[in-house]
Amino acid sequence: MEELLKDLLMSDGISGYEENVAQIMTAALKKVSDSVETDKFGNVIAKKGKGKKKIMIAAHMDEIGMVVKHVDEKGFIYFIKVGGINDSILPGKIVEIINKKGERVKGVLGTKPPHLMSAEEAKKPVKFDDMFIDIGLDSREKVLKVVDIGDQIIFEPNAGVLNGDIYYGKAADNRISCYAMVKVMEKLPKNFDAEVYACATAQEEVGLKGGRTSSFKINPDFAIVIDTTVAGDMPGIADKVSALKIGKGVAVTIIEASGRGTIVPQKVRKLMLDAAKENKIAHQIDVIDGGMTDGAVVYTNREGILTGILSIPTRYIHAPTSVFNMKDVDSAVALAVATIKKAVKEL
Ligand code: ZN
Repeated sequence: MEELLKDLLMSDGISGYEENVAQIMTAALKKVSDSVETDKFGNVIAKKGKGKKKIMIAAHMDEIGMVVKHVDEKGFIYFIKVGGINDSILPGKIVEIINKKGERVKGVLGTKPPHLMSAEEAKKPVKFDDMFIDIGLDSREKVLKVVDIGDQIIFEPNAGVLNGDIYYGKAADNRISCYAMVKVMEKLPKNFDAEVYACATAQEEVGLKGGRTSSFKINPDFAIVIDTTVAGDMPGIADKVSALKIGKGVAVTIIEASGRGTIVPQKVRKLMLDAAKENKIAHQIDVIDGGMTDGAVVYTNREGILTGILSIPTRYIHAPTSVFNMKDVDSAVALAVATIKKAVKEL
């Protein structure tokens, strides 16, 4: 696995706590862009090329996680969730709390063992507010020396190769797209005849916030959002629910959240699909019932911004680790580059 991808997957950055990911993105984008800045909201924005048209690429850099809410007198830590987390994935997981010195404090997400549950309790799923984090210290006083109320909590970082092109990693949603965005900037020629802005957005998982502020500022003629989407190639998901498969190419999104999210304009849809066909880039089509991306706020910003979405099919998103195929990341890069070149000429 390439070092940049690994660093992004292993880094910590729940919504609003993206500084470390922002640093990695700033360093990586500096090598492939003309300039890089971080705006007031925490978005990292790189610029490359010169010309009449403005093109924006967006990939959110925040991950889902938790924040320390309370420490009880015995040293157990209670938390809130930040972003969409199903409580059922939490019990027994190893987490890391990032303290104000930047140290990572390991903890275990504890719950009452089944032996001690009443028959009634055992039937019900455990809720997150009944769970706690055990960091191995036995008083509130000791815990508060290493952890503060308000510190971010991430799942224990992991990243690696399962088999061939199939990789796994924490925060694949959406660090694999951050990685792809750097590669897109790298592949665009020097002195490209349009201004291309690569924007690593903040706070997507909690209401698509950085996509809104950054697209307002950039005011592009055309935007591409790169994100992950739910792959359906696993037990329990019928093709009619999601036919997306890892390894079959990046997905061109047509409509998100049954229309509550982005409805990609016809001419953008055609532009992207034509770019894929002309360049023989592996792709799939994504029509999704739930879930939306920064695209939803970018395309409704100002007087409306032409926006397309590339989604990388990923298994187990919003869990402590996800599985993806590196070939889909590569096809996302290829299709983003081909679409940008075509958009500059034809839109
Ligand atoms: Zn995402």
